[in-house]
Amino acid sequence: MSEKRSLGIYVHIPFCKQKCKYCDFLSFPMEDEEVRDAYVEALVYNIKEQAKVCSDRYIVDTVYIGGGTPSLLSFEQLQKICNAITSCFTIAEDYEWTMEVNPNSAGDAVKLMMIRKAGVNRLSIGAQSTCARTLTTLGRIHSAEDIFATYEAACKAGFTNINIDLMYGIFGQTVEEFAKSLEDILYIAPEHLSAYQLIIEEGTPFYDLYHSGQATLPSEEDIAKMEEILYTWTQLAGMTRYEISNFAKPGYESRHNMRYWRMQDYLAIGLGASGFFFGDPGMRSENTKDLQEYLDRPTSGTITQVPLENEMEEFCFLGLRMMEEGIDCENFRNKFGRSVETVYPPAMFERFIEQGLMVKKYAPREAYVLTPRGADVSNMIMSEFIK
Ligand code: SF4
Repeated sequence: MSEKRSLGIYVHIPFCKQKCKYCDFLSFPMEDEEVRDAYVEALVYNIKEQAKVCSDRYIVDTVYIGGGTPSLLSFEQLQKICNAITSCFTIAEDYEWTMEVNPNSAGDAVKLMMIRKAGVNRLSIGAQSTCARTLTTLGRIHSAEDIFATYEAACKAGFTNINIDLMYGIFGQTVEEFAKSLEDILYIAPEHLSAYQLIIEEGTPFYDLYHSGQATLPSEEDIAKMEEILYTWTQLAGMTRYEISNFAKPGYESRHNMRYWRMQDYLAIGLGASGFFFGDPGMRSENTKDLQEYLDRPTSGTITQVPLENEMEEFCFLGLRMMEEGIDCENFRNKFGRSVETVYPPAMFERFIEQGLMVKKYAPREAYVLTPRGADVSNMIMSEFIK
């Protein structure tokens, strides 16, 4: 029998207490407990049906329960989801299992301990800022104290792998306010930090505020100062910028997210969730975004083929997101049966290298990697990999 391939599972929980003003994720308030119960049942069905199709060929080594706000579910609801996964799939011994929590709904150390026992071994806390004014601007409904209390409860519950999400470049945010938030977070010393610059998404209240001139973003100079502080202080805190927006202590890189950037297989469970299976062609699955339709038919998603050329493009621009790993030349050859320089002109790589935007590494693996200056203009570089 052939060796089992590794698999990641993403489970989407679309419920939030209140919609944040910048958010365009598939999430919405849902107070009706019966609907939440029905959603959990639909997830369990979705997991079981998917397992029938692929569990014999895969061993699961990462699981990610994201949203939305998964911590809004009760422990019993979360336990049903965890049990369905552990009973339907073979789970690798050294698995990573992340759950997103929000600071005002994570629950106390007891609930978090039970979640830990159900299989979750990594938490991702959506902090965004510790500045009260910035949190209000964002429409977040927690305080800095909630963040610290949640972090403490998570540590008490036995979590030793915790991510904190931060944002910068927010309306009205000063460099000092961002620096204070970063300092507060580095002081509690999580293993992992995700720091994303605000993106104004169409269809959000932020979009209207920005385009009607009622809110202004920090200047480019201030954004550059925030990034300088971010890169310097995380390094001083012993973290490596292993991905454009992600920082980790050694050994605590998000294995599930690395799976996305490496184009490894992942299964999608839940409303609007999207999965990917590498192949020639690859397969991308997308679940319905309609809640009622998902409740009625949890397996009614669409599957589209991903041509090999598109997989090569994605492999390159996703690879470039990884600041240490980059475009792994041997992995490229193994996946696509040819070298990356036969697909993209060597002159293009040479030009980026001459401009100081990229380097070619030969150890520990042969790879094209962005320099910090290259990361600043990563969108321009990545676009050149799209034919
Ligand atoms: S908590 Fe997260 S998913 Fe929910 S509305 Fe806010 S940003 Fe969006």
